[in-house]
Amino acid sequence: MTHLPDLWFDPTKCFINGQWVAPLGGEQLALTNPSTGEDIGTIARGTAADIDAAVAAAEAARHGEWARTPAFERGRILARISQLILTRVEDLARIEATDVGKPLTQARADAIAMARYMEFYAGAADKIHGETIPYLDGYTVYTLREPHGVTGHIVPWNYPMQIIGRSVGGALTMGNTCVLKPAEEACLTALAFADIARESGLPDGVLNVVPGLGSEAGAALSSHTGVHHMSFTGSVGTGQLIQTAAAQNVIPVTLELGGKSPQLVFDDADFDAALPFLVNAGIQNAGQTCSAASRILVQRGVYDEVTSKMAAKYRDLKVGPAMDDLNVGPLISARQKDIVTDFLAKGSDLTIAAQGEIIADAPSGGHYVAPTLFEGVAPDHPLAQQEIFGPVQTIIPFDDEEDAITIANGTDYGLVASIWSQNGARQFRLAKALDTGQVFINNYGAGGGVELPFGGVGKSGHGREKGFEALYGFSKLKTVAALHG
Ligand code: NAD
Repeated sequence: MTHLPDLWFDPTKCFINGQWVAPLGGEQLALTNPSTGEDIGTIARGTAADIDAAVAAAEAARHGEWARTPAFERGRILARISQLILTRVEDLARIEATDVGKPLTQARADAIAMARYMEFYAGAADKIHGETIPYLDGYTVYTLREPHGVTGHIVPWNYPMQIIGRSVGGALTMGNTCVLKPAEEACLTALAFADIARESGLPDGVLNVVPGLGSEAGAALSSHTGVHHMSFTGSVGTGQLIQTAAAQNVIPVTLELGGKSPQLVFDDADFDAALPFLVNAGIQNAGQTCSAASRILVQRGVYDEVTSKMAAKYRDLKVGPAMDDLNVGPLISARQKDIVTDFLAKGSDLTIAAQGEIIADAPSGGHYVAPTLFEGVAPDHPLAQQEIFGPVQTIIPFDDEEDAITIANGTDYGLVASIWSQNGARQFRLAKALDTGQVFINNYGAGGGVELPFGGVGKSGHGREKGFEALYGFSKLKTVAALHG
């Protein structure tokens, strides 16, 4: 039997108006450790009634002390949150590793990234402002950046801390209030964050957290008429539901819906520099990453060399419990394991270049899948088109630049892409030609960069998070035109 690490908050409750309150429906959901498959506690099953209470608290808070809190003071609160997170990195990492199945080193990196978001936003809070606009004689015209009001945040289970950091952090920076619905599979660090924010001096009601099912608490939040902006990260199908609900209420929505992101390896690339990025970007968090590099496009002249080097790395990959801190942990749930196993079956017509190894003493109830590298995959194969969300990569050969661009842009998605080449002119040509929200040249992910605007095109979603760009999205612009003669 595995246990939860010691918690300093009550996971069986919702956090509403600065208080820990039992869900009004009185029900709980099982909390499962993905590394063992065992139930290790329960979490609140929030429902529409709890969402109503949370939205009411957020509505009241946006007219209260928070409305009069100067931008620099909001920044100071965010800075305190950042500092407190940094003092609790180890606790947060152990909670996340147990809840999500993420290897401890990766969970630790997420906690540090959440602190970094708060630090970045803390500095930005008093640096976002409107403009004056030269206009007709006798007028003075200026713009004001104002908060939307109550913002809803629906977060998935794959990177709870990072996504809460970028989403809730951005909304708070601009003076919004927040109702956060974390994923039913992994909500503990959302609750931990709420308690840290309370301790850091965030006024009651400014941040509210209601755990629960997507079809209950999630649907209630996304359709609530008291919400003025929605942010969602997750699947395309749920994103469509959320955008439909937002359309009914005519509110803005930011969607981040994953991808089928490629890395393009040209024959003049520095393969030794590329190799760790090619593999890590596919297996990090067991491939359950919106920006996972699930497609590796390789120019034919170097195809054999790159494939055999990647295969050798795959053979060294070890899979096991999160606390063992190996290369790859379990998938989040039995359901996610089924999804990935079905994809592997769809690849039965393909050649497996190499697989990683599940360690012998991995608990039998854990949701483990061996990382799998497929080679010689046609660009239109389902494994090269659909988001798998597991430790699976496909290697796709290409002939020349034009061919590479067609393949890279040839999915429904467009989140990120990378170019591995020493040719400067080619780097610039491709950076323009790739239809994605971010392009990396001779790297992948740029270390996560909280400063770097992030988001997709096509079915990867719309709107930008991270960086200053996120803060424009979390505010609305008002134009004031004064005629004074
Ligand atoms: P999901 O989109 O259903 O869940 C994400 C969040 O949305 C969770 O908080 C969930 O409770 C909530 N939700 C679910 N149904 C809802 C509804 N009707 N109204 C409002 N909120 C709702 O994703 P999932 O079912 O956990 O995973 C399925 C697939 O989605 C994965 O295999 C993967 O391909 C993709 N996914 C992508 C990301 C990403 O980062 N882009 C994250 C998680 C899952």
